[in-house]
Amino acid sequence: MKVTLVPSAVAADGSAPASIQHLTSYLVDESVVIDAGCVGFLDDPEKQANVRRAFLSHTHLDHIASLPILVENAYRAHRPGITIYGSAYVISCLKSNIFNWDVWPDFFALSTAETPFLRFETLEPGRSVAVDGLLVTPIEVNHVVPTFGFVIEDENSAIVVSSDTGPTEAIWERARSTKNLKAVFLEATFPAEMHRLADLSKHLTTATFAREVEKIDRSVRVIAVHIKARFHEQVVTELEALRLANIEIGRFGIPYCF
Ligand SMILES: [Zn+2]
Ligand SMILES: [Zn+2]
Repeated sequence: MKVTLVPSAVAADGSAPASIQHLTSYLVDESVVIDAGCVGFLDDPEKQANVRRAFLSHTHLDHIASLPILVENAYRAHRPGITIYGSAYVISCLKSNIFNWDVWPDFFALSTAETPFLRFETLEPGRSVAVDGLLVTPIEVNHVVPTFGFVIEDENSAIVVSSDTGPTEAIWERARSTKNLKAVFLEATFPAEMHRLADLSKHLTTATFAREVEKIDRSVRVIAVHIKARFHEQVVTELEALRLANIEIGRFGIPYCF
């Protein structure tokens, strides 16, 4: 399984993806994306056209900002557009707040059997979806809006993308019983001193990150992501101070192979 954290910022000299992250998208192999925060801003529209399926964890802007652009770039005449997978809450929110003609054309209404700009499928917690050689299982996590983390498996490996979450349980229970689990992508949004804001917004600090890592209870790679850009340096310093052998800071634009 090949997983790329899609870059959402470039280095000051423009030469390479920056290590900071503003938006979230994981490209899994070529055709599946988890969250559409920035995949629709990839410079190559052909690469976007290869994306056939977008799984959305939740409705926050940093996870859907580029979805309208992706839907347009992924559409080609004479073949169906992409399929969006999300909870009933996510699908309803996209219809009312994004694809509503005001913000973007209503591609849901424009999609007919003959010319589907997009299709959508409603995800249920715990119900796996088989797509393009992958099994994707949504699991509810603990965020301020209904949010899914995902367990993604192919025949050799499995990964967990836990999305935005405060302290949570169900996804770790699932992770502990997942065969061939190779890596967990876990948010580390705030430095430890910002625990009040983290609690209010249901995110992790570096301190609660460490407690979630203990719950995983398996020696797998834990890749820290979703670090607030403004606090990147501080969060990285605090994560390094945890001295946990299996913790890595997320890198962007270079595929992970599991
Ligand atoms: Zn969020
Ligand atoms: Zn987020």
